[in-house]
Amino acid sequence: PAPPLGSSVIPVVNKLQDIFAQLGSQSSIELPQVAVVGSQSSGKSSVLEALVGRDFLPRGNEICTRRPLVLQLVQTKKKGDGSEEEWGEFLHRPDKRFYDFSEIRSEIEAVTAREAGENKGVSDKQIRLKIFSPNVLDITLVDLPGITKVPVGDQPTDIESRIRTMIMSYIKKPSCLILAVTAANADLANSDALQVAGVADPDGYRTIGIITKLDIMDRGTDARNLLLGKVIPLRLGYVGVVNRSQEDINLNRSIKDALAAEEKFFRSHPVYSTVADRCGVPQLAKKLNNILVQHIKALLPGLKSRISDALVSVAKEHASYGEITESKAGQGALVLNIISKYYEAFASMLEGRNEELSTS
Ligand code: GDP
Ligand code: MG
Repeated sequence: PAPPLGSSVIPVVNKLQDIFAQLGSQSSIELPQVAVVGSQSSGKSSVLEALVGRDFLPRGNEICTRRPLVLQLVQTKKKGDGSEEEWGEFLHRPDKRFYDFSEIRSEIEAVTAREAGENKGVSDKQIRLKIFSPNVLDITLVDLPGITKVPVGDQPTDIESRIRTMIMSYIKKPSCLILAVTAANADLANSDALQVAGVADPDGYRTIGIITKLDIMDRGTDARNLLLGKVIPLRLGYVGVVNRSQEDINLNRSIKDALAAEEKFFRSHPVYSTVADRCGVPQLAKKLNNILVQHIKALLPGLKSRISDALVSVAKEHASYGEITESKAGQGALVLNIISKYYEAFASMLEGRNEELSTS
């Protein structure tokens, strides 16, 4: 059987995204991404980490995520001897491969402080990180600061509206999938996540509800009705998860243990075992990949024409330099070559995939 669509198409999309990021904002192109939104400490960073399966994001019970983090997961092949290599690379440090994931967290904290200060300040300047691993789905995730109401530390008085504006700048794009994260011990009707997602995506075509902290709900209550969409319906539905508690974090509990504990929690739970298809990080990963495939499929024709337009305009610019071998003309040619190369790879992939999809 053919490999799943995501595994072959998304690397090309990610490459294009990189190129356009390098070209600067004027030539940027809207590509599918997955962003997490919600209140501060609802568990957004924890969910992303669980999806990646590695510990590398700043998390905690006060504000940790203070700059948008654009995270590209790149699936690599296992080596012949079965051994696995996983590493991270930052766009701002292309020279260095981070094999130690705790060093990735330190680097995120350091560049957060550099841009947003040491005292709880928030900045909308992106950090771009790639994780290479044989154990990930090919997907681009965006970790965003959470919504807060009361300014603390160096935060300006209008911190809530600033964060909302920053979040909206990502999730208003029709190509952005929204993971709307709400803690199970908060009232869903008061959910910042569902509120902001509802503004960006009123028809709910690209919002997945995530309920975290199912392990610490009030005794005698459970989230079955939430997960079934009986409280606030969502077209794409909900997934419930159990991430590590602050105590687990303090005790350095590994993500592997946490995922095993989550699996056990759901399997042995009298209520959640009846809605098992809506519970757990693996279900979320599965759901995401399926939705992403449909999403990219719908975007392909528009994407293709925008790439052609960019190609034509670069070609024109290049032609206008004539035969003069100035450095600028050289740059134009270089850019053209790079784009053409990926465009061709992309276009041929589209042809193949479209056929495959229409017969499936
Ligand atoms: P963010 O601010 O939304 O990114 O939230 P974090 O991922 O940083 O998590 C905030 C706090 O909630 C941390 O102390 C986590 O350990 C804790 N937490 C997150 N998810 C869960 C969960 O499912 N269960 C429990 N018990 N604690 C959680
Ligand atoms: Mg966070």
